[in-house]
Amino acid sequence: MSTTERPRILVVGGGYVGLYAARRILKKMRYGEATVTVVDPRSYMTYQPFLPEAAAGSISPRHVVVPLRRVLPKAEVLTGRVSNIDQDRKVAVVQPLVGESYELPFDYLVIAMGAVSRTFPIPGLAENGIGMKGIEEAIGLRNHVLEQLDKADSTTDEDIRRKALTFVFVGGGFAGAETIGEVEDMARDAAKYYPNVKREDMRFVLVDAADKILPEVGPKLGQWGLEHLQNRGVEIYLNTSMNSCVDGHVVLKNGLEVDSNTIVWTAGVKPNPALARFGLPLGPRGHVDTGATLQVKGTDYIWAAGDNAQVPDLASGEGAWCPPNAQHALRQARVLGDNVISGMRGFPQGEYKHANKGAVAGLGLHKGVAMIVMGKMKIKLKGRLAWYMHRGYHGMAMPTFNRKIRVFADWTLGMFLKREVVSLGAMENPREEFYEAAAPVSAAAAAKASAEVTAEKAKAS
Ligand SMILES: Cc1cc2nc3c(=O)[nH]c(=O)nc-3n(C[C@H](O)[C@H](O)[C@H](O)COP(=O)(O)OP(=O)(O)OC[C@H]3O[C@@H](n4cnc5c(N)ncnc54)[C@H](O)[C@@H]3O)c2cc1C
Repeated sequence: MSTTERPRILVVGGGYVGLYAARRILKKMRYGEATVTVVDPRSYMTYQPFLPEAAAGSISPRHVVVPLRRVLPKAEVLTGRVSNIDQDRKVAVVQPLVGESYELPFDYLVIAMGAVSRTFPIPGLAENGIGMKGIEEAIGLRNHVLEQLDKADSTTDEDIRRKALTFVFVGGGFAGAETIGEVEDMARDAAKYYPNVKREDMRFVLVDAADKILPEVGPKLGQWGLEHLQNRGVEIYLNTSMNSCVDGHVVLKNGLEVDSNTIVWTAGVKPNPALARFGLPLGPRGHVDTGATLQVKGTDYIWAAGDNAQVPDLASGEGAWCPPNAQHALRQARVLGDNVISGMRGFPQGEYKHANKGAVAGLGLHKGVAMIVMGKMKIKLKGRLAWYMHRGYHGMAMPTFNRKIRVFADWTLGMFLKREVVSLGAMENPREEFYEAAAPVSAAAAAKASAEVTAEKAKAS
């Protein structure tokens, strides 16, 4: 961390908002005008809309993330967590990956910490569930699902087999519907390599507390998405929730009980709970309360945007808030960047106003839904065309030319080569095999081995 005479703009979080805001500030800033510091516990930004495709193996996991130090060469990037903010002294407490926490002074502050999975105290969920917020989870889920096929193919125990081949997804919004769509497609496709597993042996269950799925694309397309998944054999239970999943025994509120090794939790997000320690004004659901200029209410040197902020949606009218999605995060980041520069130079702040441009969702290879808003017209697409829209939109929206090329290259290779179905579950414990080989021996065993060697030597001489 550099000590500097220049004012410091501290960006807390290097996700969508953090990355784009920092880039915008660096682009507009005069040489030496300020130091831009980005703090994030991960050294990369994750393009979350591609997580379901990464879980299905259509995109290489490394191509879904953008290394912060590489794309922000003029910024100071610190890998760690901001654990507190002292507004009176204008310092942030940074907890680095290793070692003691330290204080980092700032002059201007950007809060871009995003959201975390919204969970409930459901028995068994913490022990057995997996979320879908980071690339680690997407890789973990893919390895885990393929490992279940390995297990089912190699056991003679029908209970083990049935549990391995049952997959439960809780939450049918964007993240949930896309993830089950992609994973179901990948798993059933992979079944052809497993002589003892047939496509129809697998059971996919989607649960949602609401009366619909995919609310982001509107009721008609949402209904189409629901029927499409049902036609593919996905069991969908609406207006119900999961009561418990202790040891993988899933009990739904509607009375259904299934045993499953795979419980994917995608039931929405909530603002980062760390915000509660920062002393900033928060809205009723824990978001940082901002005005349309993205300045945090009551301050003129702190801005917030994205999933952790409650930003008025001027395009929708009085009392509406921008929904937490990438479309808003990206556009807010640009306005936020401009406003930080204006704030630093004493110029007036601009307001954020963006009308919804629609939504696209992929539901597996060649399947999707898309709703594109053009003025007062809403174009609704489904099936293969919508899937092309989904890929085209996100392929172009992926940050940096380097990542765009890599993602398009993955897709192009996928058109000609068969899908990769190897499970690398052991990657999660790479030292296990070596540890077994080099396992520390007890003192008694070591003494016995040494005595045996001495006896061998004595016999030989
Ligand atoms: C599976 C999935 C699919 C999605 N699909 C779509 C889609 O198709 N279309 C769409 O519009 N939106 C989609 N979204 C939503 C979209 O990705 C988010 O709205 C967007 O990422 C929000 O950006 P953000 O910068 O607010 O948060 P994030 O991008 O999540 O960034 C937050 C950053 O803050 C960091 N951080 C957390 N705590 C701290 C701390 N204490 N100190 C420092 N840094 C911290 C995190 O590590 C992270 O890098 C999807 C989300 C998911 C999970």
